[in-house]
Amino acid sequence: MGGDGSENSLLNQMLTNTQSFVEKAAQLILDSNYTCAFTGAGISAESGIPPFRGEGGLWSKYNPEVLEMNFFFAHPLASWTVIKEIFYNFFTGVSPNHAHLALADWEHKGYLQSLITQNIDQLHFKAGNKEVYSFHGNSSQLICISCHQSVEATPNLLSVLPPLCNICGCVLKPDFIFFGEGIPEEAYRQSVKAAQKSQLFFIIGTSGEVSPANQIPVIAKESGAVIIEINKDKSLYTNRISDFFIQGKAGDILPEINQFILQTKAKTL
Ligand code: NAD
Ligand code: ZN
Repeated sequence: MGGDGSENSLLNQMLTNTQSFVEKAAQLILDSNYTCAFTGAGISAESGIPPFRGEGGLWSKYNPEVLEMNFFFAHPLASWTVIKEIFYNFFTGVSPNHAHLALADWEHKGYLQSLITQNIDQLHFKAGNKEVYSFHGNSSQLICISCHQSVEATPNLLSVLPPLCNICGCVLKPDFIFFGEGIPEEAYRQSVKAAQKSQLFFIIGTSGEVSPANQIPVIAKESGAVIIEINKDKSLYTNRISDFFIQGKAGDILPEINQFILQTKAKTL
């Protein structure tokens, strides 16, 4: 009985912490002049796209070598077969979830000034965010590895693998970066600038294991931003740079923060 009681009170304490952090997040958003969100694969998990790592992650089923340039050049068909299954079959017909929609709403209302995403699924754009820096590129375009022409990744083009360039006949590669490739210059520059300007910085659904993306929240922290992390599990940021760790699913927590924003605004009217 005593055991049950203390477990319950621990649970209550955790719930209370989460609730007060959610409330705090709402207040910080209202007080901030520049807020930026940094998202990872976890924010799209509730749209049905599995992340790379963690339970049910893609790397428990596939070999990450398919995203290595040397492997891709040597075995384009083998690489493309997995790439299509992971990134194009999963992405077809998926919609933004409550977390994506909350971030779009924040931008629309002037609460969110920019969004840096490691994701390549385009869901932030579909949700309606405009100021998005795609740190790892995108899956919607393909680039010829020889003449560099860019084409849209249509189902027709992907019906025969590997897809080939209609100008020079060479293999087309997705316009997202593979392991070891450089970050798209403009996205990198904009992301660093946004991190440096941030008063408030959200880290949402990312393990912090992918470099150099994982340095962006560190830049925000070193530039004086308050860091709020939302993740269903602890990450490499938790207990290191996160000022507030709100444990839970992004699709639950972000709408809860929204509720508190509405309540807080109503009180101040
Ligand atoms: P990751 O796979 O390394 O980690 C996912 C993180 O999300 C974990 O910390 C996990 O605890 C958390 N998470 C899972 N479900 C969640 C939920 N519902 N709410 C909140 N958090 C949740 O992802 P990463 O850190 O983004 O790094 C992986 C790389 O993989 C990125 O570079 C990204 O480009 C790429 N990727 C992208 C997609 C996509 O575009 N949707 C999918 C898989 C991988
Ligand atoms: Zn070409």
